Amino acid sequence: MTPTEFSSLSLPADVLANLDALGYKAMTPVQAGSLPAVLAGQDVKAKAKTGSGKTAAFGIGLLQRLDPRRYQTQVLVLCPTRELADQVSKALRSLARPLANVKILTLCGGTPMGPQLASLEHPPHIVVGTPGRLLKLCRKGSLKLDQVRALVLDEADRMLDMGFLDDITALIAFTPDQRQTLLFSATYPEEILDISRKVQRDPVEITVESVH
Ligand code: ADP
Ligand code: MG
Repeated sequence: MTPTEFSSLSLPADVLANLDALGYKAMTPVQAGSLPAVLAGQDVKAKAKTGSGKTAAFGIGLLQRLDPRRYQTQVLVLCPTRELADQVSKALRSLARPLANVKILTLCGGTPMGPQLASLEHPPHIVVGTPGRLLKLCRKGSLKLDQVRALVLDEADRMLDMGFLDDITALIAFTPDQRQTLLFSATYPEEILDISRKVQRDPVEITVESVH
């Protein structure tokens, strides 16, 4: 049986204390399945629904692996909508509380580019956003993805439903080949399996049927 205590992971005491303070008493199934692999730097291909705790399933592990002393974008999280991107950023900020100065920036379409371009003059450690706008910022040269160590495709099936496949593919081409890629999707139609084959390396596969 997979242990469900956060203390079964090798996490610093202040990180465990923060999880406790957030009311996270035990790992959800997608967290128990993903976190050991995320912490070990492996790729993950997880089938999990809304509300299963996906943000912490990648967030706790990726926050642990990033280097806050390097002011470069090390983690890129792609989401289908602004609303979901805002939720992910908010959750990551709560999880990042015990870490020193982790800068997380949300970049989505439907808002003026000017302030986004200005905010990128000081690169954040983590970028969360929607594929179309991120690709535009990347093509302008203001979003730099050459130091990305981990890429997350969150709610991948919804991103494809929204027609983001080409933008996602183009964005991934800006990231290094040597990166960790985490794929989360509620469903696995052929297009998602195809993306996984193209952008992942020996992913650890996790299927979660129940929500908690
Ligand atoms: P998903 O992205 O799969 O829809 P979220 O990551 O947004 O799910 O998490 C859903 C809710 O569950 C959030 O309110 C989050 O704070 C809470 N949550 C996540 N993990 C845990 C946990 N281990 N214990 C308690 N609550 C949790
Ligand atoms: Mg989510």
